[in-house]
Amino acid sequence: MINLILFGPPGVGKGTQSQILIEHFNLAYLATGDILRNSIANQTPLGIEAQKFMDRGELVPDKIVTGMIERRMNMFSDKNGIILDGFPRTIPQANSLDTMLKSRNDKLTAVMALVVPYDELVVRLLNRGKTSGRPDDAKMETIKNRIKIYHDKTEPLTRYYSEQDLFFAINGVGKVEEITHRLIENIESLLI
Ligand code: ADP
Repeated sequence: MINLILFGPPGVGKGTQSQILIEHFNLAYLATGDILRNSIANQTPLGIEAQKFMDRGELVPDKIVTGMIERRMNMFSDKNGIILDGFPRTIPQANSLDTMLKSRNDKLTAVMALVVPYDELVVRLLNRGKTSGRPDDAKMETIKNRIKIYHDKTEPLTRYYSEQDLFFAINGVGKVEEITHRLIENIESLLI
């Protein structure tokens, strides 16, 4: 199985690259942000609860997000593995993921981190906000809050996965195809 985490701050291009990689390697795609936005659109109890946090650019509580991933993990038996986008975002979430994979006799292949300078991230998110209709992309203040939370809560995962030799940093600046090429080369080198 090829089980990847696509890692990096908001706006770094995880969603764009995931779409290409899932086709290339025949993988399932689990994006917590998309699942949460879907739940909000359908006004499910989970969505109503999550919306308060998301609109402010804060993290949704671990328990909600972990439960959501766990329920979906077993739905993809016809695929070669999975790409996780936006999960885990905290150390407790990473611990839960380890437990989930272990109970399936499975493990992570790699954590691929896309790296883009801070100023470019802010520009990308503000631009996305013009067309995405996402409230968390609309305001500079919310964007800065999300990037700050990323540094405080999510970046510690860099060390967590480096210590397990699973962490790879990929330059996320350039054309979409160039970045895809870097990712695929790296992933393929791990499969030999
Ligand atoms: P981006 O990567 O651009 O920040 P996402 O669509 O991945 O956007 O996530 C949007 C929002 O959804 C986050 O700001 C957060 O509120 C919530 N969210 C997504 N994934 C998680 C997670 N693993 N844990 C907690 N909250 C999450």
